Amino acid sequence: MELDYPFEQPDGEGTLREIDDGLFWVRMPLPFPPRHINLWLLRDGDGWTVVDTGIGRPEVQAHWRRILDEVTGGRPVRRAIVTHFHPDHLGNAGWFARHHGSRLWMTQEEWLMGRLLAADTSEATTASNVDFFRHCDLDEDNIFEFKARGWQYKNMVESIPRQFVRMYDGDAVHIGGDVWRVIVGRGHAPEHACLHSAARRILISGDQILPRITPIVGVPPMEPEANPLQDFLDSLAKFEHLEADTLVLPAHGLPFRGLPGRLAATRVHHEERLETLRAACAQPLTVRRAVDAMFDRALDPQNLRLASAETLSHLNLLVARGQVVREDGDGPWHFRSR
Ligand SMILES: [Zn+2]
Repeated sequence: MELDYPFEQPDGEGTLREIDDGLFWVRMPLPFPPRHINLWLLRDGDGWTVVDTGIGRPEVQAHWRRILDEVTGGRPVRRAIVTHFHPDHLGNAGWFARHHGSRLWMTQEEWLMGRLLAADTSEATTASNVDFFRHCDLDEDNIFEFKARGWQYKNMVESIPRQFVRMYDGDAVHIGGDVWRVIVGRGHAPEHACLHSAARRILISGDQILPRITPIVGVPPMEPEANPLQDFLDSLAKFEHLEADTLVLPAHGLPFRGLPGRLAATRVHHEERLETLRAACAQPLTVRRAVDAMFDRALDPQNLRLASAETLSHLNLLVARGQVVREDGDGPWHFRSR
């Protein structure tokens, strides 16, 4: 089903556009694909609320200074709502807190995960992650690259406020004169917050629902048997009752209408990939070999690790469905269809 894109892609970086009364679309650069992120600035009484903050780098902060000068009339950004812990969303929460006194609003699992990754850079944790990637059958060159590079999380999140306001699924968040309902989605991140205004018929979807690509749904190294793809597919149902003409504001790509079709296509996409993998596992496969069945392009070391996490989320769901078994030995895991 074709989606409707009512707004064109802006030219350049750090762009600003009002797309609804007092609701501004900010597009910021990213140092990795998809090379941009959409952030939202909402008029909120005598101040402003920002939804997601961009990567914590000086060039993004320079864009923010210019944009805020242009649009806020000198009124402070009192609140930063962050959908999830990933650095392109949480990266400047500390900067907003310092420069505007913004309070950080997040769900608890997202805040904790961000704080954990920023704090825990110990060698023991690196060793545990290496163990995970070895079980995925990544080669030693990749492991070497990972050890040298690390997660890079701290390099993209300049600081995370030590206090936050907790958002719960179903909460009503008042922004300006509007009520925005928190809808928690899982699978891409542990407790990802989306915001829905029934009155405006707008959904700020973060990374949970994207127009062209599907969000990465990967098994995190600290929980090798996790089944995030089931969580993600279950979460799709939470958006199926929204009005069909809801304007969706995603974190990547363009604002769109056509939510029901997009949810259905996302489901089909994952079911097709599950079937591809199930068939490929007629011969026992390691995660690394299963990646080859899922991705038909060459992947650099970092993307190979992401692809491994994504492939494993599909394998773990097949295991949970009883269609594939995981064989554990001394070395890498092997997955075989039954
Ligand atoms: Zn994300």
